[in-house]
Amino acid sequence: MKIKSASIQFNEHGTPVSSHYDDVYFSNDDGAAETHYVFIEGNQLLKRFEECQNDRFYIAETGFGTGLNCAVAIACFQTFKQLHPNHVLQHLHIISVEKYPLSFDDLNTALEKQPSSSCFKEQLINQYPLALAGVHRMSFGDTTIDLHFGDATDLFADITKFQCVLIDAWFLDGFAPSKNPKMWSQDLFNRLASLSRPNTTLATFTAAGFVRRGLIDAGFVIQKIKGFGRKRDMLVGYYPQNEKTSETTTSNISTSKINTSKPVRHIAIVGAGLAGANMALSLAKRGIHVTVFDSSSVASGASGNPQGGFYPQLHAQISEASLIQALSFDYARRRYCYLSRSGFRFEHDLCGVLLLAFADAVNTRQQKMQANAPWPSNLVQHVDSEKASDLAGLPLPFGGLFIEQGGWISPPGLVAALLNCAESLSYVDILEHQSVSSFTSCDGKVVVHSHNKQHQFDHAVICSGDQSNLLSPFQRLPFGKTRGQVESVASSSVSKKLKTVLCHKGYFTPAMNGRHALGSTYVRNDTALDYRHEESDLNFSTHKKALMPSTWLDTLNQEYVGRAAVRMTLPDHQPVIGTLEDGEHAGKVSILSGLGSRGLTTGPLMAEVLCSCLFGEPMPIAHRLYKALHYRRFELRKQR
Ligand code: SAM
Repeated sequence: MKIKSASIQFNEHGTPVSSHYDDVYFSNDDGAAETHYVFIEGNQLLKRFEECQNDRFYIAETGFGTGLNCAVAIACFQTFKQLHPNHVLQHLHIISVEKYPLSFDDLNTALEKQPSSSCFKEQLINQYPLALAGVHRMSFGDTTIDLHFGDATDLFADITKFQCVLIDAWFLDGFAPSKNPKMWSQDLFNRLASLSRPNTTLATFTAAGFVRRGLIDAGFVIQKIKGFGRKRDMLVGYYPQNEKTSETTTSNISTSKINTSKPVRHIAIVGAGLAGANMALSLAKRGIHVTVFDSSSVASGASGNPQGGFYPQLHAQISEASLIQALSFDYARRRYCYLSRSGFRFEHDLCGVLLLAFADAVNTRQQKMQANAPWPSNLVQHVDSEKASDLAGLPLPFGGLFIEQGGWISPPGLVAALLNCAESLSYVDILEHQSVSSFTSCDGKVVVHSHNKQHQFDHAVICSGDQSNLLSPFQRLPFGKTRGQVESVASSSVSKKLKTVLCHKGYFTPAMNGRHALGSTYVRNDTALDYRHEESDLNFSTHKKALMPSTWLDTLNQEYVGRAAVRMTLPDHQPVIGTLEDGEHAGKVSILSGLGSRGLTTGPLMAEVLCSCLFGEPMPIAHRLYKALHYRRFELRKQR
């Protein structure tokens, strides 16, 4: 589904007004005070935080709009944390849904006009997602916001399928029911009930009779109270103890929550490449002690190439595969910006990526994409050869697609930055040259065998790239191995002018430390790592053929310097994630692998999805996309 941005104007008070719904986003008088009165007081949020006996508190909201309600809720949580620094409740998790997201520029203007929470504004602007249908996870210190772009009822139906989270407080926003009757439906009210814990509270600015009756029919106890400012009434309520949730799961792929009756403190990661380092950071953010094993050294496999292109693989239509790519790319961009802003440096340049229309078939596909326009323009734009040459800083014979927010990254530097960041948040041991040979079980723990030593953990995650098939729990997956050789080419006085990554059949990056990366070959079922002259010839000839008649290519010197690595892939070219569901290690061993040559793009989101799953948190991905990534998909497809 394509997401349409909100069409808004700012009225004489500077308040955003929706042209579509003909209604204001918040009160002209004082938006923050209204939010405080209706949603914070209406849910008695500070008291609810104080009474909470879990480490996470879940708020869900209909209608993210400008994020004002979230900003005020975060401020309330910060007050609570200051008052009770040692309270068991440590994390606020907000799930908000928005059908028509504000454009980046409108959001900026709307936030400028809000005097409160400049820190929230800056963090939201830095992380604001692309207008893509699905979940966008953003981090605000000890608050997570999962912003879903799509319809509220659909979202809550999707969350119900995962069955892993119940909401503690509802913010029912979403324009006046008279202006937006479609959203305020019985279906929505029933969904809210099915996702409520006993004593979950609810607040809404409206007192419309059909909303009150609908919420009561769904099982809530509802009360009318005085509304904000000049408004006569509003509704508050709660979900009583004796109501039972009706929904049962319809999925045959489950989310495997770690058995939280025993605290999970120490997790082993097998493999210190992009998958393992991203997993380490996601776990460390949750305070988990991590031990990373690698049979060689950090970033020595496919994540060891000096430079890699960072961009999503998009189709002319929004397919599951390309939506996973686009959402992963957007999440990865947020994680990398967070790393850089937090001082964990790695060599990279988000200088854009040009996907050149170098052949007729590619051009036809790109034309189709232009006609369908399924992707937001700040993700991908069409450019002619003149514009492409201008962007690249060198003459190019074709136009193509420009991924403005993409670029190149040095994977070894990124892996080190991810691990350093993880170390700054929790205990992280890195055991290099420690090959893991097998797992056994003992006293509910998983025992990792490495070099005749045994180490006990609460859980283990296999992130070992091309060696992921060597460990028994996931050996049966239809893994494929592909060798790829990338050239390291000294820049010439001309090629050093290159300003963006060029992709055709292969790729060519702007120079890092005076050298370009030119890749790559794909040799199936070949796992040798030797450097080959014939593959270097192939890389150079592919590049020259694709970019003919550009003469600047002749200034490059073929020195026969480069590196070969093996990538692990699955037949459908999707990553593979999940926790073992049966056998001796059920619930104890997970996998994150099959990133192929796309680990820079998919690694961060896959790690976050797997972690959310392990800890029974809301999922940062839609259910159908999770199914397309789960390790049991091959077996289930066969059965079908
Ligand atoms: N809470 C917002 C804030 O803090 O700025 C203001 C919300 S505004 C009054 C209502 C929001 O609900 C709009 O952004 C609108 O696009 C969104 N909305 C309306 N119908 C929706 C639906 N069916 N699903 C999701 N969002 C919806």
